[in-house]
Amino acid sequence: MTTTLQYTPLADIPKIHEELRAGFYSGKLKSLSYRRYQLLQLAYAFQENIEAFNNALYADLARPPLESDLAELGAILNEIKYVLDNFESWAKTEKAPFNIKYAAMKPIIRKEAKGVVLIITPFNYPLFLAIAPVAGAIAAGNTVLLKASEQTPASSSLMAQMLHKYLDPDVIRVVNGAVPETTKLLELRWDHILYTGGEKVGRIVATAAAKHTTPVTLELGGKSPVFIDPSCDLVSTTKRLLWGKYVNAGQTCVSPDYVMVPEHFKDTFLKVLKETYNEFFANVSPSNFTHLISSNAYDRISSMITSSHGSIVAGGMKGADQAQKFIPPTVVENVRADDSLMSDEIFGPILPIMTVKDVDEAIRFVNERPHPLALYVFATDNAVKKKVMDNTQSGGVLMNEILIHIGIPGIPFGGVGNSGYGAYTGKYTFDMFTHFRCSIDAPSWIDKLLSARFPPYSDKKRQALTRLAPKFPPKPKGPPTAQEIQASLAGKGGKIKWSSWFVLAAFVALLSKNYERVPTLAGLIARIRAL
Ligand code: NAD
Repeated sequence: MTTTLQYTPLADIPKIHEELRAGFYSGKLKSLSYRRYQLLQLAYAFQENIEAFNNALYADLARPPLESDLAELGAILNEIKYVLDNFESWAKTEKAPFNIKYAAMKPIIRKEAKGVVLIITPFNYPLFLAIAPVAGAIAAGNTVLLKASEQTPASSSLMAQMLHKYLDPDVIRVVNGAVPETTKLLELRWDHILYTGGEKVGRIVATAAAKHTTPVTLELGGKSPVFIDPSCDLVSTTKRLLWGKYVNAGQTCVSPDYVMVPEHFKDTFLKVLKETYNEFFANVSPSNFTHLISSNAYDRISSMITSSHGSIVAGGMKGADQAQKFIPPTVVENVRADDSLMSDEIFGPILPIMTVKDVDEAIRFVNERPHPLALYVFATDNAVKKKVMDNTQSGGVLMNEILIHIGIPGIPFGGVGNSGYGAYTGKYTFDMFTHFRCSIDAPSWIDKLLSARFPPYSDKKRQALTRLAPKFPPKPKGPPTAQEIQASLAGKGGKIKWSSWFVLAAFVALLSKNYERVPTLAGLIARIRAL
């Protein structure tokens, strides 16, 4: 079954934009309870239609339902729940840290919505990559225009239908379409644009935004490397690696793009990798493995495989089915840096294996290329983990896991350098769509203390103001010694302050009044309350 996606007429786009602007100025979303209501409607739009959404994803990508439950629909519900549980505290006005000079002015930071925001999404997780940011944008009080992917007609049209049915049209509207529709959207003024997709289009979006001085977040992709250290747990490593690589047929922004393994460890690694591959994919077929999104994607991936000078270890074009856009999970070894598999982000079911001399060569290889969105290390040796972490740059760096950081609450997801800028999920999305508006309310009596700033200026007034200059620690006699640098790199630079020892001693003294009783948590709380 194929769905035809109804594109939004170009002429309607400026009108929708104006209506969302009016929706913002209506002030509805100033109320946290209205935001909560819209977030709950968002949750129910998905929870009540979960099977329909799963079927739509199947129609677009032939993705196994378990994968859609785990990586897309479950992730949407978890994200909305996390935002619902926390956004009221994120939205609270904050007091500035206490400073004797300014305390009387009551400095605060108000969390204000930016206004009307544009979210442009790609095809690979067409629902999660739309709804996770939508939740944060509404929680922060913005009205939202969502430009869904045209490459997933079933999912994008169902999403538009459900969002328009469950949520307030003053708050959110979906525009469906391709390049002309997105180009039209980009001509308009937005208060923030979040773009998720490829780097080339990312530049078009950032350039269009610059004309209106609109802030932009770019969530891009790139080649995310994996380093396999001989100290790793091979069974768990190969399971996580093959799962992470082939989920959604490798069409994942943080999919492991290529593997680097030390030459002397390659055979050991490949032996276990093949065993795991056979365990996972002995019966792989177009009915249980995600398809490529388009004929273009199929042609691109098949030509990458056929022009590679590496040797196929598993999969390959023999089992491929052009009509269904299915290419089986493929592993290629003996891949060199100048191979066809190493030029662009693969974004498909191919895992190239390269050999390196050691971890230092792997680090050099990563550093000579654009900063990746994710960097993966499989090792139990802490020195290896630390070496890679401390000597490379990437959006995220994962030890012994793949992909799952995007679903972990409380940590930012985003790129650096060519893999994008800005970060999201949870509070990071809320903050992205929030203007941190500073405010003070200064009483007039402060002029008695600060009158030196007013004209007419004089030397006496200047001296008075100089007294307010900050005091620094004594001027250093020279740069830190090699030993001090080493200690700070090893994380041993911080000394425990005397005040901390004092608090600890007071706490121990308090408990030791009844030291014969082992303190339980409840007992401790009762004692603290009784103070
Ligand atoms: P894409 O760049 O082709 O399309 C994304 C969006 O841009 C679509 O909505 C599309 O309509 C619009 N678009 C396409 N061409 C345009 C143009 N010329 N002008 C204006 N708008 C245009 O991306 P894709 O192929 O759908 O997604 C694949 C890329 O996205 C990969 O590089 C992947 O790594 C990246 N990605 C990144 C993340 C992340 O969170 N960092 C997540 C998913 C995908």
